Amino acid sequence: MNNKVVLIGCGNVGSSYAYAIINQRTKVSELVIIDTNKDKALGDVMDLNHSLAFAPSKLKIRVGDYSEVRDAKIVCITAGINQKPGETRLDLISKNREIIKDITNQVMDNGFNGIFLIATNPLDVMTTLVYRFAKEKNPSFKPNQVIGSGTTLDTSRLRYLIGDKLKINPTNIHAYVMGEHGDSEFVPWSNATVGLNPISNYLNQDELEKIYVEVRDSAYRIIERKGFTNFGIGVCLVKITNAILGDENTIITISCYNEDNDIFISQPAIINKDGVREKIKLHLNENEKQLFTKSIDIIKNEL
Ligand code: NAD
Repeated sequence: MNNKVVLIGCGNVGSSYAYAIINQRTKVSELVIIDTNKDKALGDVMDLNHSLAFAPSKLKIRVGDYSEVRDAKIVCITAGINQKPGETRLDLISKNREIIKDITNQVMDNGFNGIFLIATNPLDVMTTLVYRFAKEKNPSFKPNQVIGSGTTLDTSRLRYLIGDKLKINPTNIHAYVMGEHGDSEFVPWSNATVGLNPISNYLNQDELEKIYVEVRDSAYRIIERKGFTNFGIGVCLVKITNAILGDENTIITISCYNEDNDIFISQPAIINKDGVREKIKLHLNENEKQLFTKSIDIIKNEL
């Protein structure tokens, strides 16, 4: 089966994605890595290949060029500048805009018609730009073919923190982070449950607020300590990859197209082989609706 993934950018995030692919027995059959730093790409490929004899996966990994995207199912973009201590994700816009434009144009010029998966920050702005640049090259390119990792990672952090506090398996925590993958993200607590019970049965308002702040500021706290974040996002990208290649119809909070505002922003959506099959409409309360609108305005203002 051809389940080729082309990874563009193999820095901290890209190489963690590749490493997570190897360790998770995914449906990826070929992984092709492109990076302007050719030595880093080749070094990673050698190192990753040397794990295959003892890894659960059977896949081919190699360095490639843009002609490889023609028959790829997924192009995952993790190239770009990352946050330095004290920087917000939005501080990266001007630097990463040019990188994203160059990459998207090269991908489209080589006949790509699969699913883009984006991790580069500021995530929602970059994901919107990928869609716009792709559509300029191919007017029939559809918004469902573009997915930003969005608040997948923030949702994973949220479930971990709640599960840890309640001593309940995080897979039984049904709660989402929505909106911008950035400082204006929010948790629609009115939709959050532990098992089938409302989360308010377990945690009070102060406890929920404390967890939200910890989720929102996690990247800052990690970057202060180690300079970047990589493992969490690597696994989240594989989660989305599996949903696409496995035609899983899995609900994930990814950054997807918001028609009313012509931007990409995170909300829960069903992911399968076509990318975004459909968005899940949540019943948000008035406060949550306002928070979603605030996130939309922030993303729109940065475009
Ligand atoms: P990094 O500096 O370690 O790696 C970036 C890589 O991109 C480098 O290897 C560089 O050579 C390559 N690159 C730059 N321009 C390129 C181009 N035009 N074509 C091909 N390769 C190119 O950075 P990182 O820590 O891996 O972070 C990458 C991006 O991911 C940043 O924007 C960061 O903010 C973002 N990020 C997102 C999330 C998320 O949840 N979405 C989490 C962590 C980091």
